[in-house]
Amino acid sequence: MHASNLNFDRLQPPASNPIGSNGAARSNGTRPFPADINSIFGEQTLTVEMMRDTLPRDVYKKLQATVEHGARLDTSVAEAAAVAMKKWAIDHGATHFTHWFQPLTGSTAEKHDSFVTPNKGGGAMYEFSGKDLIQGEPDASSFPSGGLRATFEARGYTAWDPTSPVFIIENPRGATLCIPTVFASWTGEALDHKTPLLRSIDALSREACKALKLFDMDEDKVVTTVGAEQEYFLVDREYFYRRPDLVACGRTLFGAPPPRGQELSDHYFGSIPDRVLAYMSDVEYELYRLGVPVKTRHNEVAPGQYELAPIFEHSNIAADHQHQIMQTLRRLAGNYGLVCLLHEKPFAGLNGSGKHNNWSMSTPSGVNLLEPGDTPHSNRLFLFFCTAVLTAVDRHQDILRATVANAGNDHRLGGHEAPPAIISAFLGEQLSAIFRNIVEGTEGQTPEAGLLGLGVPTLPPLPRHAGDRNRTSPFAFTGNKFEFRALGSSQTISFVNAALNTMVAESIADLTAMVESKMNEGKSLGLALRATIKHYIAKHQRIIFDGDGYSQEWMEEAEKRGLLNLKNSVDAYAALNAEKNAALFEKYEVLNKRELKARVDVMYDQYFKTLSVEVDSSISIAQRIILPAALRAMNELGTTLRHIGKVDIQSAETHGLLERLTQHTDQLQRAIAQVRDAAAIFDADCGTEELAAHTTNQILPAMEELRAVADTLERLVPDNLWPLPSYEEMLYIK
Ligand code: ADP
Ligand code: MG
Repeated sequence: MHASNLNFDRLQPPASNPIGSNGAARSNGTRPFPADINSIFGEQTLTVEMMRDTLPRDVYKKLQATVEHGARLDTSVAEAAAVAMKKWAIDHGATHFTHWFQPLTGSTAEKHDSFVTPNKGGGAMYEFSGKDLIQGEPDASSFPSGGLRATFEARGYTAWDPTSPVFIIENPRGATLCIPTVFASWTGEALDHKTPLLRSIDALSREACKALKLFDMDEDKVVTTVGAEQEYFLVDREYFYRRPDLVACGRTLFGAPPPRGQELSDHYFGSIPDRVLAYMSDVEYELYRLGVPVKTRHNEVAPGQYELAPIFEHSNIAADHQHQIMQTLRRLAGNYGLVCLLHEKPFAGLNGSGKHNNWSMSTPSGVNLLEPGDTPHSNRLFLFFCTAVLTAVDRHQDILRATVANAGNDHRLGGHEAPPAIISAFLGEQLSAIFRNIVEGTEGQTPEAGLLGLGVPTLPPLPRHAGDRNRTSPFAFTGNKFEFRALGSSQTISFVNAALNTMVAESIADLTAMVESKMNEGKSLGLALRATIKHYIAKHQRIIFDGDGYSQEWMEEAEKRGLLNLKNSVDAYAALNAEKNAALFEKYEVLNKRELKARVDVMYDQYFKTLSVEVDSSISIAQRIILPAALRAMNELGTTLRHIGKVDIQSAETHGLLERLTQHTDQLQRAIAQVRDAAAIFDADCGTEELAAHTTNQILPAMEELRAVADTLERLVPDNLWPLPSYEEMLYIK
């Protein structure tokens, strides 16, 4: 047990802390501006590397072996690591620690424990043991487990992930040490998104290392790298709190389009308003302190929409950092009188927000396996791994589609703002031609002749930004990485990457096996590779599509090619449940059948819960806010008409207006009743499939109709009688 005497001064935020205690202090100018990024970067995070001097040498070595080479964690190191962490955390003003984990809700969860324990003498001590570090037991019975835990065995436990650094989150009255952890049931089944991600990283590493042997590369690890671009909206807090739909659902359920939408495209990359820029700088400052390498910021397409992108990192850390990015965006907005909306579609008729998951594979020393290089060796490597990725994407379109399916994203995907629901891969003209030539056996007649080691030795330089020219593709090769662009802005990237790693691991294994067998038949590596790539591309080339993903022709063409078109979340969840997918995840020990099923169940559950909150909010807002406003408008008009009737003036138009108002108001009430009837199914005892069908066929159309009537009324009711902030106000007041 390690304890130090309690120092009460330490319970106050340290005076020297440049952030002060909260955002208010920060905007009062206590924070140095502009920030000296170099001196603050990572100051709120403790990596194993940073513990080098404080840990006994053997302990440090063992930890390093775990972090860098994936060695099993030696529990004997925990005591020493806990001592080092406690000291560091307390020096940084932390009074509490928490096991920070990623439950299946898709967000993060934490339960704080104080470092402080009373001692016999009536005082208190700071305590934090190896056991506290390694394992925790959140009272977790209310986290969704998809049936993995019956209530009688409701306990789950969290376990330290030493491969992701601990970090400190400040609050106005102190600070908390956050320890990234996995979350599992006592039977060892994953109840979270981090566990499968870590397992998938291992699976891919194993298969990629085997493949690298073909190329005479002896690696004991291959990592996947991820950089996730994040889109978000900002609205003034004042308006936010006056919109019960934004508060309850994160999106507007009503609202007539503004006279000026995004038609002029003048917001995109336009100059950033001062208040927003101050907020962004603050977000970046905090993220730098957490060691999150944020890089770019700019306005996005819709008014009020922005984007932030970090530099890519090891995928496990990138996933943790992604959560920290979302939390920081949300947390700091209030200091600027703003609210950050991460919902996929906060405003109808305007672009929604997504997340681009840039993904690649790399050796620990930084050789990017998807970098087409300028030697025959690196070209072979590239073509091999690129083929593996394409094979995986074609085989498991359904999985990829399902990982990005949620109620919010249903409003985006397939609209003309985000990739279609059909998964396909963009390669760009040159690379597509190269693969085509390999399949057709015509590489000899092209400048790329002998790509695989014969003749002209190198690939032509591929345009780095080729992918960006086609924003309609869900899965685009952008020079040295693939960019999966269908993610919703509110989503965790952990599940997406777990799936991606697993399916690519499988393809790499298959390609490796084929190359080996061809070589066993006496073929040279070059010829074996060529035959293998030809075989797999020929089989999976239907997934390659460089054209306009929004076009009607593509819908038809994709159908001819036999590509899946899973139009909405519930279809995608059903597809994820397929035997083929369970077999894949099980084979690579990423998820067993029960764990996968649990995820699907939780996805359905979250979807229906989201919908049910939206339905309740819709009814309540329509009935209690919009209907009374319409009635007040009718009353005013009626009074006016009575008065002008008295002076004997005829007014057909004003009469007409009252008539229209009355008609729409009646229609509103009928539409409310329709939504209410359709939603009765939420209280009925019915199966998932029935509920899903009913949702698509009844509930969603009824809600749409209700919204349409309400939005018509918004255009008729006088502005001063309309109780909800308008789209114009929310989007243009910055
Ligand atoms: P663009 O501006 O064309 O979108 P960038 O090169 O700026 O492309 O990259 C966008 C995102 O992709 C960034 O987050 C970046 O760090 C990330 N990225 C770049 N290279 C890789 C890689 N090898 N693996 C994963 N992500 C990467
Ligand atoms: Mg991008």
